[in-house]
Amino acid sequence: MRLLKTKRPLFALLLFSVLISVFTLSASALEYRDDLKIKVGLEFGTTSPKQAQFTSESGFKIISFDESTYAEEILFETAQTGLTVKNTSGIATVHISDGTEVYRSESETLYIAGIDGALKYKDGTYLDVIKIFCKDGLMRVINIVEFEKYIKGVLPREIYPSWPDEALKTAAIVARTFGFYSLGGKHQKYGVDVCTTSCCQVFGGNGENEHPATNAAVDATKNIILAYNGKVAMAVYTSSAGMHTESSFGAWGGDQSQHPYLAGVPTFHETPEEYPRGTWSGTYSNEEILAYINSKSAYAGKLKGVIDSIVLEYGETGYARKITVTDIYGSSVSAKNSDNVRGMISKFVRSACVKIVPNYDQPTSASVLTADGIKTTTTLPANSYVLRADTGNTPVNLFKITTSPVSFTISGTGWGHGVGLSQFGAMTLAKSGCTYQQILALYYPGTYFTTPSGLAAEKAGSAQ
Ligand SMILES: [Zn+2]
Repeated sequence: MRLLKTKRPLFALLLFSVLISVFTLSASALEYRDDLKIKVGLEFGTTSPKQAQFTSESGFKIISFDESTYAEEILFETAQTGLTVKNTSGIATVHISDGTEVYRSESETLYIAGIDGALKYKDGTYLDVIKIFCKDGLMRVINIVEFEKYIKGVLPREIYPSWPDEALKTAAIVARTFGFYSLGGKHQKYGVDVCTTSCCQVFGGNGENEHPATNAAVDATKNIILAYNGKVAMAVYTSSAGMHTESSFGAWGGDQSQHPYLAGVPTFHETPEEYPRGTWSGTYSNEEILAYINSKSAYAGKLKGVIDSIVLEYGETGYARKITVTDIYGSSVSAKNSDNVRGMISKFVRSACVKIVPNYDQPTSASVLTADGIKTTTTLPANSYVLRADTGNTPVNLFKITTSPVSFTISGTGWGHGVGLSQFGAMTLAKSGCTYQQILALYYPGTYFTTPSGLAAEKAGSAQ
């Protein structure tokens, strides 16, 4: 039932084009330890509110909080079950339900928690600490929460708790690894490590969002992460992959030697026809595809007329890594790297493991006025025909008439960028008796298991 709360099953289709180079540096600068907390941005940037309302049956505490040591000290306590925090001229002020101000922070930052360690914000229950940071008349709402709790809030939103235990353990390790990889990552300028959407991985908070089956998988794999060459692995994942996973180079470019475990592997065990959106097909009019491409700011206005051709070029993994769309006037737009191919036509595809076939109106007949009267033929090619003058010995072509496709049939397999673990593929392997160790060795070949503290020790050892 829990899954029904969200619009669709929930698989993180990670958009990763900017992450690869950014993360390797910033993440390695952090000091890993097993009790690390992660800063989950509940609302920041364009979603920043002016004020935030919290409820807690146990009452609230306002604390001082050291984000490095996690030391805290209670500054203010109240048995009130509802509080509103406002940005008052750049200072966080705390109000009870009649509007009375009961606490005022000394700076733009305020840390609030439920007395029993949980509070509610909007639709979610959040553990540990909520950080409020006032900025430009608005505020960022950030949940600073222990890693294992964070993973327990992610898994029910990313996979089906009904899946086999080994698939759940696989997902727990991958979600944990991805979280560690994201520390100090792409949202860092907002002071958060991850957001709560499929941009990073979906986080629904704790409490009622948790599920006993996924919690058990998190506990059974406590602190385990994947590493490669002394660094946390870039454990990106996809919903399903079809017959092969895509390489990180194919999807986003960059240096494959940094992530050799993401070079792509065959996945013939997958049965995409049985997975949600694992196979897909549709026929779309020329005009609809043209309008969609023109609606994207990167391509707007570049195609002047209806589409004459869509040409795909494939990589060794079977994913389209270049798309060129040309109009009847010869203008064209193109995109490189399979994730950008998917992005250009994302309304019509689930992955870049795609085929596109043009459809032409079949002319039924053509008539020409000749010296002998009107001649009619009904044997015409689909999209191109030639008007030819018969001069006796040597026929002369007068015109070649080519029609543009009226529509394109677009079909493919897999859902997502196709890189790394395939969630449905892991489910299939687990059902057939594979362990999480076997599943992860298949999808991330060459990686090994460690813990954050193990990784820190490895780094310290290699530095000596
Ligand atoms: Zn994000």
